[in-house]
Amino acid sequence: MSKYVDKVLNDVKAKNANESEFIQAVDEVLTTLDPVLKANPQYEKNAILERMVEPERVIMFRVPWVDDKGIVRVNRGYRIQMNSAIGPYKGGLRFDPTVNLSVLKFLAFEQVFKNSLTTLPMGGGKGGSDFNPKASPHTPGKRCSDAEVMRFCQSFMTELFRHIGPDTDVPAGDMNVGGREIGYLFGQYKRLANEWTGVLTGKGLSYGGSLIRPEATGYGDIYFAENMLAMRGETFEGKKCVISGSGNVASFAAEKLMQLGAKVLTLSDRSGAIYAPDGITEKMLKDIMVLKNVKRGELADFAKKTKAVKFFAKANSWQIADKIDAAFPCARQNELDGKDADYLLKHGCTLVGEGANMPSTPDAIAAFVKAKIMYSPGKASNAGGVATSGLEMSQNSGRLSWTREEVDSKLKGIMKAIHDNAWEAAAKYGQKGNYVAGANIAGFVKVADAMVAQGVC
Ligand code: NAP
Repeated sequence: MSKYVDKVLNDVKAKNANESEFIQAVDEVLTTLDPVLKANPQYEKNAILERMVEPERVIMFRVPWVDDKGIVRVNRGYRIQMNSAIGPYKGGLRFDPTVNLSVLKFLAFEQVFKNSLTTLPMGGGKGGSDFNPKASPHTPGKRCSDAEVMRFCQSFMTELFRHIGPDTDVPAGDMNVGGREIGYLFGQYKRLANEWTGVLTGKGLSYGGSLIRPEATGYGDIYFAENMLAMRGETFEGKKCVISGSGNVASFAAEKLMQLGAKVLTLSDRSGAIYAPDGITEKMLKDIMVLKNVKRGELADFAKKTKAVKFFAKANSWQIADKIDAAFPCARQNELDGKDADYLLKHGCTLVGEGANMPSTPDAIAAFVKAKIMYSPGKASNAGGVATSGLEMSQNSGRLSWTREEVDSKLKGIMKAIHDNAWEAAAKYGQKGNYVAGANIAGFVKVADAMVAQGVC
C-alpha cells in the first residue's frame, strides 16, 4: 500500500473510530487504487482521497409522528450528501432499526463509485431512518399500519424536502422503502414544494415512474453476471444458483435467472432460508412476492404450506445446497463471511454476483479474488437500479414514457458498459479479471477528474 493511501486510511480510522461499516467500505476501495494514484500524481496533489472520504454535507434530523394509539413517537432521519462532482446527489432511503451514521456513510461512499460507473451524470448520496415499518411500536408481533407508515413518511419529508430537489438531490428507495413509502414521500414533497418534479425515483407508473425500475437492480445483477459468463463462453442454462433475501433485489434476480434457464435453489429472509432441491418454480416465486409485498409475511409461513421446499430457521442461504454454480447475495451488508465463501468454493461455485451493498466480508472477498472466480462487487453489479433511476429522471425531465422493451434494452446496454469498463480498467492497471479493482478504479477516475477540474471545493 502506498504511503498516501496508508495516511488517508489512518486518518479515516482516527476520525471515524465508531463507524466500522464506513471504515470497511473506504478500506476496500482505497487499497485497490495504488496503481492509478501512482500513474496520476495530480490526485494526491489535489487531495482527492481526503476530499472523497469526507461527505460534502451530513443532515440529521428529528422525525416526530403520532401512532394509531395517539402516542407521539420520535425517530432519527438522515441524508448524507457525499459527492456532487459529476451530478446531483442520488441514492436511496433505508428505513431499518440498524440505520446509523456509519451504515449510511458506507452506503453513500459506495454510491459515488456506483453512480459514476453507470455512465450517467449522478453524484452520490444516501439517507434514511431508524424507523422500523416491520414492528408496530404498540402491538408486539404486528407491523406498523399503512396509516402509521404514511404519517412517518410525511413527517420525514417535512424536514427532508428543503434539502433535496430534481437538480440538487434525488432520493430513491432502499431496504423497507418500496412503492408504498415512495408514494407517501412524493405526495408530501409535492404539497410542500408546490411543484410536480421528478424529485424521487421508484415512483408508481401512474405518477412518473419508469417501467422496469422495480426489476432493475435484480435484473441488472444477472445481466452483469451474464457478461462475466460470456467472457468464459458460458451461459446460465442449467446452472444451480443460491440467492439470499426475498425482497426487491432478490426476487427479480430470481425471476431473471429462471427466464435464462437457471435453477434457483434458495431464498431467505429474517425468519430463515427456504431450499428447493429441484428449483423454485415461477408459481412459487409469484406466491412469495405476494406474501412479502402484499401480505407482508415471512418465508417461514410460506414453507409451512409448500411441501417442495425445506425450511432452515434463522439460517442464511449459503451452506445448504450440495452443488452450487453461482451465488447472489441480495439481502444486506456483511451477510456472507469467510466460512460461507469456503463452503461455496468447495461446492463448485465459480460465480458470485453481489446484488446487495457490501454483502461479502473482507475475508470472503479475499477468498473469491484468490480463487480467481467470477466475482462482481455490488457497486458494479447492483448499479442497474440507480441506472434505471437515472433513466426515470430523463423521462421525467422530457415528460416522456419509454416502453418496457426500451428501458430493458438500455439497462442491458448499461450493465454491459459497466462490465466492460471494470474489465478494461482492471486489465489496464495489471489486474486482469479482478472486477473489484476494475470497478473501483473505473468509478474513481471519472469522479477524481471532475473534482480536479472543478478546483478546491
Ligand atoms: P428489501 O426489499 O427490503 O429486501 C431486503 C431483504 O433482506 C429481505 O428479504 C429481508 O428480510 C432481508 N434481510 C434484511 N435484513 C436481514 C437480516 N438481518 N437477516 C436476514 N435477512 C435480512 O431491500 P432491497 O431493496 O431488496 O435491498 C437489498 C439490498 O440491495 C440492500 O443491501 C440494498 O442496499 C441493496 N440495493 C438495493 C437497490 C434497490 O433498487 N432496491 C439498489 C442497489 C442496492 P425481511 O423481509 O424478513 O425483512
